[in-house]
Amino acid sequence: MKSHKTWSTPVVPEESRSIPCALCGGEAFEVYLSCEGFSYLRCTACHLAQINPQPLKGAVEARYQQEYLAYELANERNFLALQDRSLKDAGFTDIETRFLPQGRSSLLDVGCATGALLESLRNRGWKVRGIEIGLPSADYARQVRNLEVYSLSLAENRFPAETFDVVLASHLIEHLNDPANFVREVYRILRSGGYFLITTPNIAGFQARLFKSRWRSAIFDHLYLFSVKTLSQLLVKNGFRIEKVITWGGLAAGTAPKPIKWIFDRAAKRLGFGDVMLIKSVKTL
Ligand SMILES: [Zn+2]
Repeated sequence: MKSHKTWSTPVVPEESRSIPCALCGGEAFEVYLSCEGFSYLRCTACHLAQINPQPLKGAVEARYQQEYLAYELANERNFLALQDRSLKDAGFTDIETRFLPQGRSSLLDVGCATGALLESLRNRGWKVRGIEIGLPSADYARQVRNLEVYSLSLAENRFPAETFDVVLASHLIEHLNDPANFVREVYRILRSGGYFLITTPNIAGFQARLFKSRWRSAIFDHLYLFSVKTLSQLLVKNGFRIEKVITWGGLAAGTAPKPIKWIFDRAAKRLGFGDVMLIKSVKTL
């Protein structure tokens, strides 16, 4: 079987520094995946996989510029269909049914890219805002879709506390230098009972175990690779209650004959070892 990596910026030398584990603060690591030009280490205490030493925040943010827009535009329709499907599976329609009639409709999509999902949520009655640090993608969302999109990182936007009813972060948290700080900031800006939905690759999934360093999500742009366990721990530790976990994708398209892929995809979804996961959590209190 073949493995196709997802889109990534080329591995280039960047200024980096060694950091303690973002989940447990541990400082003991073992090499987990040796990829071309970089490695993932795994914290020996909590098992969170991370690129460490880690490139500095400025270098990381400089990665997502012009070429990223071309990638996002080329895949926009596929990504939107996937996001719609996974939100539906996570019970997003129930949130809409409860929240929208109560006037709780303020939604933030962090890492909103060209804003395709925000546009479709706006059509369903949400008051939407987005964050996208890739300037060409953010400009596209503002100019073509007339969306309110900010190009600073979440913390730099300094939203007032309890501003949003729902925060979405799809394929975003694995790119961040400090995911713990990010989760705490989402907690602060959510209203009580508000929802935080994170989608990210699942390192405990079947494909990750099979392909190891050739896994399509073991790429230079992913500073962290979470499992359902490590991501749940990060959320619970910072005040969230986990309401639902879904995983999907047993095998990547083109890696196996269709009937075999169908069987694996169904099994992965049922048993929770899918390639990508969505964790739906709620801010308690
Ligand atoms: Zn750790």
